[in-house]
Amino acid sequence: MRIILMGPPGAGKGTQAVAISEHFNIPHISTGDIFRYNIKEGTELGKKAKSFMDQGLLVPDEIVVAIVEDRLKKDDCLNGFLLDGFPRTVPQAEALDIALKNMSMELDRVINIEVDKEILIDRAVGRRICKECGATYHISYNPSAKGDICEKCGGSLYQRDDDNEATVTRRIEVYLKETLPLIEYYQNKNKLTVIDGQQDIDKVFRDVVGVLRGDL
Ligand SMILES: [Zn+2]
Repeated sequence: MRIILMGPPGAGKGTQAVAISEHFNIPHISTGDIFRYNIKEGTELGKKAKSFMDQGLLVPDEIVVAIVEDRLKKDDCLNGFLLDGFPRTVPQAEALDIALKNMSMELDRVINIEVDKEILIDRAVGRRICKECGATYHISYNPSAKGDICEKCGGSLYQRDDDNEATVTRRIEVYLKETLPLIEYYQNKNKLTVIDGQQDIDKVFRDVVGVLRGDL
């Protein structure tokens, strides 16, 4: 089962990624994590990536793709993998296709968790986080029984600076604009399945599993 999981910030992608990788017993490969790993371990690719990041530059696609390819060659990917956060662009997707082909692998499915923009904004703007234990709440959907106080530890709740409406709106719009060509790319290859991310978390998961089971 070789999967790419896509979804805008706030769509619940992280939660689903963990559940899917456990269910199918495949590694959850987050590009953020493998970047940090390569940099921490000081691998050749990590050093190259870091030299760009240190200058405040974007890491070029060829290095990003090489880091992902290197990870996909590990033994735990023999039965499949779930890619999270990659590819982000069509050139990256094309490079991934070539890399997979060279490894005699094929992508099974691209899952896109869709949530209306207004709901994504509402989810982010209403988010409150405990200063002490990091528990997250939402003022409407998941409020603390103790108001501004964490019901788990008694810590006070706060709103992250970048969870204000203007920043959130920009973050989501940039994501949607950037990934639209990618979504079309996978649609044209008949690899894309859209999942309604506005349902409760368990239902989203059941939908994803149902789709992937059909591919088995
Ligand atoms: Zn707390």
